Amino acid sequence: MRAQWRTSGAAIAAPVAFGRRRPRWRDFDLVVDLGEEVLSARWWRGSATLGLLCAGVGLLAPTPFEPLPAANVERVGQAEAEQFRDIAIAPLSAGSKTGGRMAATELVEPLSQAPDRPTIELFARMGAGDGIAQLLVRSGVSYAEAGQAARLIQSAAPSGIAPGTSVSIRLGRRSPGGVRPVERIALRAGLDINIAVTGGAGGLSVSTSRIAIDTSPLRVRGRVGDGLYWALRASGVSAPTAGDYLRALNAHIDVGGQIGPDDRFDLIIANRRAATGESEEGPLLYAAIERAGASDVKLMKWTIGGRTDWVDAEGAGRQVSTMAWPVHAPITSGFGLRVHPILRFARMHKGIDFGAHYGSPIVAAADGQVMRAGWSGGYGQQVRLGHIGGIGTSYSHMSRIVVAPGTIVRQGQLLGYIGSSGLSTGPHLHYEVYRGGVAVNPLSVRFASRALLEGAQLEAFRARLRQLLSVGVKKA
Ligand SMILES: [Zn+2]
Repeated sequence: MRAQWRTSGAAIAAPVAFGRRRPRWRDFDLVVDLGEEVLSARWWRGSATLGLLCAGVGLLAPTPFEPLPAANVERVGQAEAEQFRDIAIAPLSAGSKTGGRMAATELVEPLSQAPDRPTIELFARMGAGDGIAQLLVRSGVSYAEAGQAARLIQSAAPSGIAPGTSVSIRLGRRSPGGVRPVERIALRAGLDINIAVTGGAGGLSVSTSRIAIDTSPLRVRGRVGDGLYWALRASGVSAPTAGDYLRALNAHIDVGGQIGPDDRFDLIIANRRAATGESEEGPLLYAAIERAGASDVKLMKWTIGGRTDWVDAEGAGRQVSTMAWPVHAPITSGFGLRVHPILRFARMHKGIDFGAHYGSPIVAAADGQVMRAGWSGGYGQQVRLGHIGGIGTSYSHMSRIVVAPGTIVRQGQLLGYIGSSGLSTGPHLHYEVYRGGVAVNPLSVRFASRALLEGAQLEAFRARLRQLLSVGVKKA
């Protein structure tokens, strides 16, 4: 094509052409299409190049040519060959030994009548969003019987059947109508109950059998090592429980920075173990960490006033008589009348201000419960605690809150960090104390000497703790 293009180009350019273009080195082309301009000089040159290349390959090639060695040079013996043939999947029509000769041959005579199987046994699995009646209908049970069986199973297991439950179904001899009646439906409705529905002359009837359950909790202890989370997981603690444990500890210590490799974790988890071997993990009941270089943290789940929370096992009966300062900083503005720095008029300052650096930790002034945590108008990010004796405290203008409403907090427990949210001129803590809902001077408050738990409740708490800690150790 190049020659043609040159010719036509020359023809168009002829009127303005000046002399002849000198042949250039680029025009000499070794790669020639042997399908074009056959027997031309160019073609011969191409053929010669090809011939020379082939001869070159012939000269350079190793002699004699040998097959490349394959991966397996060993010969397969007779015994192996037979074994291979037996386990190989060969076409059944070719007489494979895997399934016998299945295809019909001329020797096969069709029967005029085949006996019906007297019973059929099926297994079906409950899917998500599936119903027992639908499952039975899918398995060939009549609508009437499926509905009846579903009602019987529902009455025996009111909490329903979990998805994934396997149901064993036995259907009896086909009726003239073509439907097989239910002989038996059996399933494990839960960890502790087996349900069987049996068909008979009088219709379907249900029976249940209980499986013995051991409810003693599981205790898991071990060394933190390289990482607490993975140490827990390696000890057999499930991911949600490990998460619960870390969250429980995090309210009391900095799990990221205050735990070393030699510290030891200690968890007690509710557990149900069936006599047949299966077990079901329940919630975390006790979370503790024994720290080599710092105080231990021991928390037990406990319900106070209808709320379940983590309660410090050792501090539950501790007497609280004074309030602590919520932040380690000087007081920059006291309680009383003053000119508001933003609103510019005299008004009552209902609390005291602490001037502290942005991000300094704010802790609970006394044991109590978080009543609210979140944005509160001019107060910005605010936490309010309720304490014993009708006393409340509030912590305002925070940059970040780390407690949730309902949390039971110990004196000195982290609530959040200093900020300047809401109506504020700079990072500080505005701290208020209420008695019976009225703001009082925080410096005047003397706390009644009462504990978070006392009397019978404290006794019950301690008894439960003793009972839990007597649980055997699963892993050391
Ligand atoms: Zn203030």
